[in-house]
Amino acid sequence: MDNTEEVVALCKRRGFVYPGSEIYGGLGGIYDYGPLGVEMKNNLKKLWWSWMTVEHENIVGIDGAIITHPRVWEASGHIKSFVDPLTECKKCHHRFKADDVDGKKCPDCQGELTEPKNFNILVPTELGVIEGEKIKTYLRGEACQTIYLNFKNVANSTRVKLPFGIVQIGKAFRNEVTFGNFLFRQREFEQWDLQWFTKPEEMDQWFEYWKNARMDWYQSLFTHPENLQFYQHEKLAHYAKKAFDIRYRDREMEGIHWRQDWDLGRHGQFSGQDLSFEGIVPWIVETSGGVDRTFLFLLLDSYTKDGDRVFLKLNPKISPYKVAVFPLLANKPELVRKAQEIYKHLKLECKLATVWDDRGNIGKRYYAQDEIGTPWCVTVDFQTLEDQTVTVRDRDSAVQERLPVASLDSYFIEKLK
Ligand code: ATP
Repeated sequence: MDNTEEVVALCKRRGFVYPGSEIYGGLGGIYDYGPLGVEMKNNLKKLWWSWMTVEHENIVGIDGAIITHPRVWEASGHIKSFVDPLTECKKCHHRFKADDVDGKKCPDCQGELTEPKNFNILVPTELGVIEGEKIKTYLRGEACQTIYLNFKNVANSTRVKLPFGIVQIGKAFRNEVTFGNFLFRQREFEQWDLQWFTKPEEMDQWFEYWKNARMDWYQSLFTHPENLQFYQHEKLAHYAKKAFDIRYRDREMEGIHWRQDWDLGRHGQFSGQDLSFEGIVPWIVETSGGVDRTFLFLLLDSYTKDGDRVFLKLNPKISPYKVAVFPLLANKPELVRKAQEIYKHLKLECKLATVWDDRGNIGKRYYAQDEIGTPWCVTVDFQTLEDQTVTVRDRDSAVQERLPVASLDSYFIEKLK
């Protein structure tokens, strides 16, 4: 079932994602994350970062600049190769990737198509204030280049030894020709990359390790891990021995790349600096994934309909809020007081992402929390005032149980492990 349209509407309605610059008519392929979206995206990024840097040995992070020296993109090959041959319809002037159209007819109006021309998809920018002295450069077309640029800095300023990794989460910019498809193909997006530096003789072993480890990690987050699969590329870059994608229902989410000594070799050559370490130019296994694509696929995958209920069956670690707290009736001060106490305790002392809701009736509040994927709702009712227990309602089963207020912390902390 394709639920993309419903998910896109939900994203806007509930504050996950908005079209960029919308009050001015929007900008194609540019999006802003709203209050719930930023919480969920931050949760995802924190999980990735801690999996990389805490659960693995020998991985350190950087946060590189978006604007880099123009020579970077010559060395990386993007100035020459980051081009898409495009063809234009002579009648309706729609443009298409030459690879996407068969024959010479426009898929939209059957008009005649021009010969393909090359368009570079790097986003140019200028630095400097005086005309004639401005430097033309590019917003980074892929985040990983700043890892190569800082390879020597990291090696010299930390205690790493081969094999080791450098990770980064950061923005990348591409003048994509066929943007659209919501967050799938944007012109400004975020990538999470690992560059793993190793000795050539250990390359095969590490490639296999990272390929499988990344798949396991994604599977642990998705509601339906069977929707994820490997795709093996047949057309390879000249330095690559193999390349795989991790795909969600046939759409790329992350690439696992055999980069050999190509990147450090090229930057060594173009900069004139020695980028060797421990006597060799290390080889690289790269895992390069899209934060926004993962975000989108997680929403598509968790969107669930069960009779009248619509809920996001998100892994609680990713949900924007973990717990919602309600007083059964908003006009009973004794219930509100007790519910506020619990709300503040969970939020401020337990540091759980907790939200308060006292609008409408309880059914509407459950509905609203289901729709944004909140895994547990706590309701304070009259019995609470007598015996210090509350109801805890589980999002996925819609089942309620009665628990002592004093056990809530350990109950949620245990569930989130
Ligand atoms: P595609 O073939 O879909 O254009 P790619 O092979 O060019 O992707 P890479 O350059 O390997 O992608 O980038 C690594 C990851 O960055 C991709 O797996 C994807 O998740 C993400 N990504 C790439 N382009 C975009 C984009 N335009 N919008 C959102 N995410 C993107």
